[in-house]
Amino acid sequence: MKVLIAEDDAPSLRMLQSLLTKWGYSVTSARDGNEAWKILCDTQHPSLVILDWMMPGIEGIEIVRRLRMNEGGTPHYVIITTTAGSGNSAVQALDAGADDFVGKPFNHGELQARVAVGRRVTGLHQALAEKLQKLEAANETISRLARTDDLTGLHNRRSFNDFFALALSAARRHGHPLSLISIDLDYFKAVNDSFGHTGGDLVLKEFSNLMQEMVRAEDLAVRWGGEEFIILLPQTNCEAAAALAERIRSKFEQTPGSAAPLAMTASFGVAELQDGEHEDDLIRRADEALYRAKNEGRNRVVIAKKKRTRRKATN
Ligand code: GH3
Ligand code: MG
Ligand code: MG
Ligand code: MG
Repeated sequence: MKVLIAEDDAPSLRMLQSLLTKWGYSVTSARDGNEAWKILCDTQHPSLVILDWMMPGIEGIEIVRRLRMNEGGTPHYVIITTTAGSGNSAVQALDAGADDFVGKPFNHGELQARVAVGRRVTGLHQALAEKLQKLEAANETISRLARTDDLTGLHNRRSFNDFFALALSAARRHGHPLSLISIDLDYFKAVNDSFGHTGGDLVLKEFSNLMQEMVRAEDLAVRWGGEEFIILLPQTNCEAAAALAERIRSKFEQTPGSAAPLAMTASFGVAELQDGEHEDDLIRRADEALYRAKNEGRNRVVIAKKKRTRRKATN
């Protein structure tokens, strides 16, 4: 384990260096407070620190105060040393934030035992920090999985609900357009019937990849369930949304599937949020447009009818 020794008295520094090296520590030395502080400001500095109280530049006790004020990640373990018999030095050192205090001249056995405590505490802190890091990574994975559809890797409904709420409030606050595309693959049951469920799954994945490649980074492609999808398009009016839907429709129609060499098609309903419209009505209008696309022969894009809005009476 790495340890920093800051000591201005050359014989004391030599003695500490040789003892700590003998006890198995890897020693970095500083001959005054400024040098010690410079080392401690480095990202790779030792966590275990032995500081002489009285040093030119910054005093040991001031270094501890600064460390405690700036402490971010793994905390330092600091032992303050000074000549014994100077009143309540131990109390002052501990009050300033030191973990331990050892009087000079050193009792070697006691010093070794106290530095060993520091090694143990520092090791525990480091193990805890590593565990915390792993836990944070695991939480990140769990939360990503909770927002993702297993089969296609697209966002799932839970994720849609979160993004939709944010996108709605941004659109309403800034008066930006917001559109939705509701999508359903045509005659998908026939794919399963002819090529099995696995073949159907592959078509769903391939359609999802195609869609994901064609949307902008700020759009949200969602597997709504089964062979139904939604794309949420912030800052997009229904004409631009319909143009995207048309590009996806055409590309899908022209792309032969690897599992089901059928001419696969999809139907699309597009709706743009209207002034004062409830979010459920926006989804409903996109679905109604999709339903019309199905009834009108499938493999097409239909833009939703606007809801009639009440005009204020004018005299
Ligand atoms: P339409 O053009 O009217 O939409 O016809 P369709 O056959 O696509 O519609 P329908 O809703 O009758 O059938 C959807 C099919 O999608 C039925 C169901 O078995 C299948 N399906 C739903 N989820 C999955 C899935 O995760 N994997 C596979 N392979 N099939 C699925
Ligand atoms: Mg000194
Ligand atoms: Mg369906
Ligand atoms: Mg379908």
